Amino acid sequence: MPGFELFGDQERKQVQDVLDSGVLMRYGFDGMRNGHWKAKQLESTLAERMQVNHVHLTSSGTSALTVALASAGVGAGDEVIMPTFTFVASFESIIALGAVPVLVDIDDTLTLDPEAVKRAISKKTKVIMPVHMCGSMADLDALKVICEEHGLLLLEDACQAIGGSYKGKPLGSIGDLGCFSFDYVKTITCGEGGAVITNNASYYENAHKYSDHGHNHIGHDRGAEEHPFLGYNFRISELNAAVGCAQVERLDEFIAIQKRNYTVLREALSQVPGITFRRVPDGGEENYSFLNFFLPSEEIARKAHASLSENGVDGCFYWYDNNWHYYRKWEHLIQKKSLGKLPQEVRDSLPDYSQADFSASDHWMGRTISCLMKLGWTEKEVGQRGQQMVSVLREII
Ligand SMILES: *Cc1c(COP(=O)(O)O)cnc(C)c1O
Repeated sequence: MPGFELFGDQERKQVQDVLDSGVLMRYGFDGMRNGHWKAKQLESTLAERMQVNHVHLTSSGTSALTVALASAGVGAGDEVIMPTFTFVASFESIIALGAVPVLVDIDDTLTLDPEAVKRAISKKTKVIMPVHMCGSMADLDALKVICEEHGLLLLEDACQAIGGSYKGKPLGSIGDLGCFSFDYVKTITCGEGGAVITNNASYYENAHKYSDHGHNHIGHDRGAEEHPFLGYNFRISELNAAVGCAQVERLDEFIAIQKRNYTVLREALSQVPGITFRRVPDGGEENYSFLNFFLPSEEIARKAHASLSENGVDGCFYWYDNNWHYYRKWEHLIQKKSLGKLPQEVRDSLPDYSQADFSASDHWMGRTISCLMKLGWTEKEVGQRGQQMVSVLREII
């Protein structure tokens, strides 16, 4: 998963261009930049790779989600449906706008269950936000049908799934809007950074303005620009974008390495009776950043996870007990702890998650182990890792 594993000369060269010009800002300073527009360059490369009309870079994946929601007019009191298994950024980005995160069960795809989504729709629902956790997606056609029937937006959180696809289309490009993260541990990294992608020109117009204090970016005099609406600063810097310019060129190479490692390990684990794999919907292709598998029970999964790490198999996660990625450990959300007063709409409408029944999610997450695919493993190391995992797991199951 982490692009930082294969850092090199291209990254250094791109960053050096920016340091040489001294222009760290993505807008303006036209005469000083030696022709370097790293953020613009990365946006156009991504637009081509993701087959979309518009890309706008942001300071992080979290801010990309907030910008995407804001650009589509989501605001105070609007409900956004999101899964119980995701990174905390999902609900943070929603609450930042005074909107309300409505948690919904996952299924064996480890992301939104379309039937559970239908049951969660209310008059206030505006958006369905599937999160392509660990590189794979929900049944996106089913979610699209629900969106069309109810007039809702589909926003793909593809922060962990860049390079994956669904029915031939890049993940992130299927919904009305899609978001990527380029933080330090993602498939490709800028250090910190994110992107909003869309085919909708007006969302794009809103996104670049909203991310830069509402500046309309018309003309060359920043001081004379107009501000059609209130915004914020979610800009990416040229230094971060420069790193991304080098990394994006290697995306397909990274995915190919992940796929090779994933395939070796999956074939090995397939020999272990009792192990099954996460369902990838028809027409879906993962980005192979993780190998996700189910153990026969929660008890066995816990033991297997502990034993893998005791035996030196690193990079395997048991998200069920992890405090970033699964609702059970989101005490700050459950107890509505914020520094200041939350917006009235959030206080009034945020469901009481301490009482929620997510047993369907628990059923899957309690049995799931996810193993990170590293880029730096040699063929021999992957083979040995597979054998070691098989012997540890055979012992436990
Ligand atoms: C990493 C991540 C984010 C947030 O990205 P940052 O760049 O770290 O802010 C959002 N959603 C998911 C699923 C992520 O994994």
